[in-house]
Amino acid sequence: MVLQELIRPNIWNLTPYSCARQEYSDGDATVFLDANESPYHSPLNRYPDPLQRELKREISRLKGVAEDCVFLGNGSDEAIDLVLRIFCEPRQDNVVAISPSYGMYEVAANINNVEYRPVLLSESFSLSANKLLAATDRHTKLAFLCSPNNPTGNSLSHEEVEKVLRRFNGIVVVDEAYGDFSCEKPFREELQEHDNLIVLNTLSKAWASAAIRLGMAFASPQIISFMNRVKYPYNISLPTQREALEVLKHRTEVEQWVRLILRERERVTAAFARLPLCQKVFPTDANFFLARVDGAESIYRYLISRGIVVRDRSRVRLCQECLRITIGTPEENDALLKALNDYPR
Ligand code: PMP
Repeated sequence: MVLQELIRPNIWNLTPYSCARQEYSDGDATVFLDANESPYHSPLNRYPDPLQRELKREISRLKGVAEDCVFLGNGSDEAIDLVLRIFCEPRQDNVVAISPSYGMYEVAANINNVEYRPVLLSESFSLSANKLLAATDRHTKLAFLCSPNNPTGNSLSHEEVEKVLRRFNGIVVVDEAYGDFSCEKPFREELQEHDNLIVLNTLSKAWASAAIRLGMAFASPQIISFMNRVKYPYNISLPTQREALEVLKHRTEVEQWVRLILRERERVTAAFARLPLCQKVFPTDANFFLARVDGAESIYRYLISRGIVVRDRSRVRLCQECLRITIGTPEENDALLKALNDYPR
C-alpha cells in the first residue's frame, strides 16, 4: 500500500496548526504566559496535553500497542469522521461498509459528501469478502467493518476480514467497539501484519464510561500522525483525560462487570427465546442481542408504556421485525422479561 496514493493531497501537504502546548511541552518552566490562558482557576485554566501522552502510555500498556500507534478521539465517532476527511475526496471517492451496521459510518460519509456503498451481509449476517471487494473501485478509499457488529451482535469471520485486509487496496477500518465482550482475537494484534488496518476501540461500552467521550484508534504510526494533524488541537478535555486514567485503574472491576453482563446475556437470551412473541434470537458476541419478534413496533411501544426503552430496528435492512436489546443489571433484565411475559396477545 502506498499511503500517499490514498491520502487527499491537501491533507498530505497540510501544515498543521501548532498550538502553544505543543511548542513548549516538557522542561522546567513554571511561568506560562504563552497561551493566553487565565492565571486563575487552576487546573482548569490550562489547555490540556494536545497529544494526551500520559493517557496514551496507560492505553498502550493495557492494549499492547505502541504509543505512536494510538490516536485518542472524542468518542470513536471522531475517528470515523477523521478518516473520511483524511482519505476521501468529496464527490470523487467512495467508501464501502457492511450493511446493516453502525449508522454513523453512513452519516459521516454523507456529511463529508462521500459516496457510501452499503454491502448487504447474508441472512445470517455473515461477511463475504468477495462481495465486499466487488463493490469497490479505484475510488474506494475505506472499508468499514464492525465486529462484533451493531445491530446484529455477531462477530465477523476473522478469515473474511483478513481477506479484505489482504486484497483491498485501501484502508480497512475494523470497529471493535464491542470487542471487550467477545472471545475473538482482537485485530489490534495484527497491526504489524497490515499497514492498511485501523482498529477502533472505545471506553463507552465495557468500560462503562460513555459520558466522558473517549474513543481510540490503533494504526501504523504514519496513519496516526495524519489523524493527529487533522484533529482539533485540544480534542480531549482535561476532565476526560483524568477520568479515563481513573477508570483504567479499575480493570478488575470492569472485567467483573463484563463477566456479569455475559452471564446475564445467557440468561436473558434463553428466557427471551422461550417467549411466545419471540421468533428468533440471533447469536451475539456483544452486550446486546437482536431478536425477531411478532410485531416489533407494537412491542416497542408497549415496553415504553412500561417504562422500558429498547431499540426498534425493524426498518433496518435484514432486520425486519427486529428489536435490539441491551443487557442491563439483573433487576433491569427481570423488569424486561416480566413486562414481556405480561404482553397481551
Ligand atoms: N462503533 C459502534 C459499533 C458503536 O455501536 C458505537 C456507539 N453506539 C460507536 C462506535 C461510537 O462509540 P463512541 O461512544 O466511542 O463514540
